Amino acid sequence: MRKRLIAGNWKLNGNWALCEQFVDAFASLPAASLEAIKQQADVVICPTAVYLSRFDALIQSTSSILQLGAQDVSTESQGAYTGEIAASMLAESGAGFGIAGHSERRHRFAETDQQVVQKMQNLFAANVLPIVCVGEPIEQREAGSAESFIEAQLLPIATAVAEHGLAERPMAIAYEPIWAVGTGKSATPEQAQSMHAFIRSVMARFMDADSLRIIYGGSVTPENATALMAMADIDGALIGGASLDPEQFVALASV
Ligand code: PEP
Repeated sequence: MRKRLIAGNWKLNGNWALCEQFVDAFASLPAASLEAIKQQADVVICPTAVYLSRFDALIQSTSSILQLGAQDVSTESQGAYTGEIAASMLAESGAGFGIAGHSERRHRFAETDQQVVQKMQNLFAANVLPIVCVGEPIEQREAGSAESFIEAQLLPIATAVAEHGLAERPMAIAYEPIWAVGTGKSATPEQAQSMHAFIRSVMARFMDADSLRIIYGGSVTPENATALMAMADIDGALIGGASLDPEQFVALASV
C-alpha cells in the first residue's frame, strides 16, 4: 500500500503570511480529520527556499502535520556557485522532499536530463526524498508519441538509480504533462492512469516499482482530484495554482 503524496509547489509565489495561514488552516481541523489525513498522505509544501527554516520552526513548534520540500536544488555540493543552494543546505533548513526537473526548470532554465539526474542524486545523498518530474509537450501527445517521450526522460533517471545502488531508497516520480501545467486543462483520469501505469512498467525494469509513488501534476483542483486519485497508479498530486489557497489545499489533502 503506497502512502499518498500531496505536494504543493508555490513557485515564485507566497510570503511569510501565507506560510502562517497554511499552518493555521491545518491546525483548525478537528483532531480526527488531521489524524485521517496524516494516516493516508504525506502533505508537503514547497515554498521558495528562503522560507524553509522559519516555516520548519513553525511546523515543529505547532506540531503541524505539514512537511516541507524544496522546489529545486543545485547540481553542485559546494563552492563558487553564486546563488545556488546545495541539497545538504536544504536538508538542514527542514526540507524532507525536493523537486528535480520541474518542466519550468527544464524549459525556462534549459535544464538537461543529465542535470536533473545529478540533482536527484544530490537529494538522495542529503537524505531528501526526490520528486523527479517528467512530462511531454502537447506536440508529442498529439502525435501519439507521449510514451516514448516519457520513456526517454525516465531512462537516465532509472539507470542512475540502479547504477548508484539507490533502487531501495524512497523516491517519487511526478507525471506532469506540460500541456496541463498551469493551463486549467487537466489530463483525464484515464489519460493520467494510462501514463502512470506505463511509468511504473518502465521503472520496474530497474527497481521494485510497486512501492514507487507516482504522482500526477497539471491543473489539479479539489473538483478533479477525487477522480484522479481513485486511479490505481495515481499516488497523489503535485499541485501548483491550487496549492496557494489554504482552503483548496486542505480539501486536496483530505480527498
Ligand atoms: C506545477 O507547476 O507543478 C503544476 C502542476 O501547476 P498547476 O497545478 O497550476 O497546473
